[in-house]
Formats: sequence, structure tokens, C-alpha cells
Amino acid sequence: MHDVIIVGGSYAGMAAALQLLRARRDVKVIDAGERRNRFAGFSHGFLGQDGVGAAEIALSARRQLEAYPTLSWVDGRAVSVEGSKDDFTVATADGRRHGSRRVLFATGLEDQLPEISGLAERWGHAVFHCPYCHGYELDQGKIGVIATGPMSTHQAEIVSEWGPVTFLTNGAVELDPPARQVLEGRSVSIETTLIERIDGVAEVVLKGGRRLGFAGLFTAPFCVPSSSLAEEAGCDLEETMMGIQIRTNEAKQTSVAGISACGDVARIPHSVTLAVADGAWAGAQIHRSLVWPDG
Ligand code: FAD
Ligand code: MG
Repeated sequence: MHDVIIVGGSYAGMAAALQLLRARRDVKVIDAGERRNRFAGFSHGFLGQDGVGAAEIALSARRQLEAYPTLSWVDGRAVSVEGSKDDFTVATADGRRHGSRRVLFATGLEDQLPEISGLAERWGHAVFHCPYCHGYELDQGKIGVIATGPMSTHQAEIVSEWGPVTFLTNGAVELDPPARQVLEGRSVSIETTLIERIDGVAEVVLKGGRRLGFAGLFTAPFCVPSSSLAEEAGCDLEETMMGIQIRTNEAKQTSVAGISACGDVARIPHSVTLAVADGAWAGAQIHRSLVWPDG
């Protein structure tokens, strides 16, 4: 019987594990190894690790965790969570069953990208979501923002801080005169012709053949939990402006007693820094719940 099983051993899950291991608790991490940023080579904006490889940050964290004797780690996928507070059983895809008093979901999100030919292949290289993570490297070059819904006008506005923006509505949003006025106020060009495909580094080919070249493209995907485990375990979900996440309280507890959630899957907005902070907080809160079970 472990004190805590953490499903998802990326930034948030490992940050939680670190607090619990340093409290000499017995922690099992189960991780399928599919970090959300696996499509990008480098990670930016995480203090002390700016521009370091996304995998390298995760690997060096894991090496540090492995120095603690009360850690066990399963490289694999959790497939079910059963039981209740103080007596959970987590099954993994290899058929094994693991017991724990608490469960923490740090399972991250999946990005549902707009279906445009050539876009998915460029995700994390030339097509991005977060300007704080990837805007600087575009060197103030031309930026295309591909709409996915009405909120995309805000993305076009903010991204114009990083370079001249063309807002490609692509049939996802109708711009009324006030919306146009706001965009024009930020010198955003508006392109309403539908997109045929993405070509080259970040060249948008419009229906009819016109081509618009950019240093990079931004779009806002709809985010959904990358695993249905929390929902199957009875945890309430909630909708945010970015998609679907697990609902948690200030202590990062879900609607199911003994189950917590942290990182991208349980907060907005999303970044490595915020996932690590959320995980560290969740880890300490779970520890407190083991010390004061009724507190
Ligand atoms: P994730 O890192 O997504 O990790 C979730 C983990 O849980 C994965 O390892 C997954 O395999 C595992 N998992 C899921 N289900 C199961 C299961 N059933 N069993 C076992 N394991 C499971 N942020 C920045 O700060 N800087 C950047 O430069 C940056 N670049 C990005 C580039 C791209 C293309 C994308 C999409 C995102 C980027 N981000 C960046 C955001 C960053 O990736 C996330 O905020 C961060 O990864 C969230 O960490 P997390 O631990 O919550 O989830
Ligand atoms: Mg994690």
C-alpha cells in the first residue's frame, strides 16, 4: 500500500512527488511518457531552464526524484482507478494492480487542433498556441493567427505584441464591425478566405491559390483531458475558455474524496512553470491530508 499514486509523471506530477518524497512518504508514479509539449524541441519561460530541451527538463527532474528511496516508478499507462479514500487500486495496462491511500491525477491535456492540412505536422515547430512560450523566437516577423472560434480575436490582439499579425478567420468566426475595429486598432490585417493547407515553414495557402508567408502561426486548440480515468473514477469535470478540465478546490482535491488533480488538467492557463507550482502545492496538500485525514 503506497501513500500516494501519482498518475502522470511529467512536470506537475513530479513536482507533487518531490514534496511527498521529501516528507518521506511512499510514492508511486505511473507515467505513459507523453508530455503535452513533446512536439516542441525546446521549452521557454521556465526560470533557470529557459530554452532548455523540454525532454531534458523532465529527465533531469526524474533523475533527482530517483535519489529518494521511497519512490517507485512505472513506465506505462494506468487504465482504471477503483476504491475509495485510504484504499484505492490503480490498474496498469500490463495487468498489475497498485494500492494507495491517495490518488493524484497529473495526466495533462490533449490539444484538438483545427483540421487543416499540414498544420498538425508543424505543431510545436511553426504552429503554436502560447506567445509567451514561442513568440520571442519569431524575431518580430509576420505572424498568422488561425481562428478556431470567437475567442480567437483575443489571441490575434495579444499576439500582435510579438509581430505584425494577419488574422485568418477560416470560417470559424464572423467579425462584426466593432470586432473589426478592435483588430484594426491593433494593426491586425484580416483575411477571410478559407485556408487550403500549410506549406513550407509556415506558409498559408488559401483556397484559390493565394499564398501568405509567415515566420510562425498561432492557433487556439480545444483542450480535453488526455485520459478519461478521472471522469471514470467519478471526478467532476468543468468547461473553461480553453476546453475541459478536472474540477478541483483550493487544495487541489477533486469531487471524489482522496483523489486530487493538478497541472494542465486542473487549471488554466497552462505552462511548465504553472504546472510545477500547481504540482508542488498539490503534493503538500496531499501530505497534509495524510497527517490530518479529517482536516
Ligand atoms: P503533461 O506535461 O502533459 O504530462 C502529463 C503526463 O501524464 C504525460 O507524461 C502523460 O503521458 C501522462 N499520462 C496521461 N494519462 C496517463 C495514464 N492514463 N497513465 C499514465 N500516464 C498518463 N510551456 C512552457 O512553459 N514553455 C514552453 O515552451 C511550452 N511549449 C509548449 C509547446 C507545445 C507544442 C505545447 C502543446 C505546450 C507547450 N507548453 C509550454 C505547455 C506545457 O507543455 C504544459 O503546460 C505542461 O506540459 C503541463 O505539464 P503537466 O505535468 O500538467 O502535463
Ligand atoms: Mg505531470
